[in-house]
Amino acid sequence: MGEHILIVEDDDAIRNSIHEFFTKSYFETFSAPSAEEALEIIKSGTIQIVITDILLPGKDGLQLTSQIKQNYDIDVIVMTGYSENYSYEEAINKGASDLVFKPFRFEELLLRLKRVLKERRLTKERNRILSKLENLAITDGLTKLYNLRHFYHLLEIEIGRCSRYGHPLALLLLDIDNFKVYNDTYGHLEGDKVLVRIGQIIQSCLRTMDSAYRYGGEEFTVILPETTAEEANNVAYRIKTAVEFENFFPEPENVVTVTVSVGVTEYHNKESLSAFIKRADQAMYLSKEKGRNAISFLFAENS
Ligand code: GH3
Ligand code: MG
Ligand code: MG
Ligand code: MG
Repeated sequence: MGEHILIVEDDDAIRNSIHEFFTKSYFETFSAPSAEEALEIIKSGTIQIVITDILLPGKDGLQLTSQIKQNYDIDVIVMTGYSENYSYEEAINKGASDLVFKPFRFEELLLRLKRVLKERRLTKERNRILSKLENLAITDGLTKLYNLRHFYHLLEIEIGRCSRYGHPLALLLLDIDNFKVYNDTYGHLEGDKVLVRIGQIIQSCLRTMDSAYRYGGEEFTVILPETTAEEANNVAYRIKTAVEFENFFPEPENVVTVTVSVGVTEYHNKESLSAFIKRADQAMYLSKEKGRNAISFLFAENS
């Protein structure tokens, strides 16, 4: 429970009796005689359900419903007299969750309220699970960085944006040096800890627009929108240095350090996504050739 209910009804007797009934049914109940006063209470942010009469002085209950649905995460139940000419459809189209005709038994209103509350909880639960699934689908399970699927998706979007507006776009590709030896020496679980920590280090070196991905086993990428080669080199340098100075303890009293080789490149107008990534990869291999723990930049051939 715990939901807060607001009754909007201009008839004092009806308002007070509904209020009393819901209070007795253990709901935290508020009431207002007009839409204007109801909105003041709603602004405080505590209300989840509004039960409103349609005919009210000033703004009517349907206008109130539209306004609530446009601005708040609140469910609305609308009440109307039999003689008044409002249809169920009209109320639902304004965003109401239910319509109840007066006079009604309180038990009926309570049942409708409980059904709306149940749907509300189910909707929230479904939305929570959906966003969790959406997150899982784009997250690397080990490092919690974005995964390869999301990398391709976002890089495509960034390339489109960069082509339209002519803004710069840079890409980093990082590969852990001699990581096979680390795994062979200290075991795969210790290797996994290094991957997790390096993921965190990369993340901590980024600016707000940048995004980091686990590209493959021990490889990472960073997309840097609105970024020139020079700035991208700065980010690469921050990451390379931070990794180099991080201490790992795969065995008690045995401090080990790890390094990364980084490739940096800038998007060249109209080139394909794969040409762009391939150049970052080639730049990374140049760093390996230089002896590892290095940063290399590659220009596009025809730039
Ligand atoms: P280089 O400096 O040339 O990159 O050498 P390397 O040993 O890092 O490169 P190589 O491609 O030969 O080996 C990559 C190693 O990364 C192989 C594997 O042991 C390790 N690796 C890949 N994915 C994972 C993972 O998910 N967890 C762990 N612990 N190790 C991984
Ligand atoms: Mg009325
Ligand atoms: Mg590799
Ligand atoms: Mg490697």
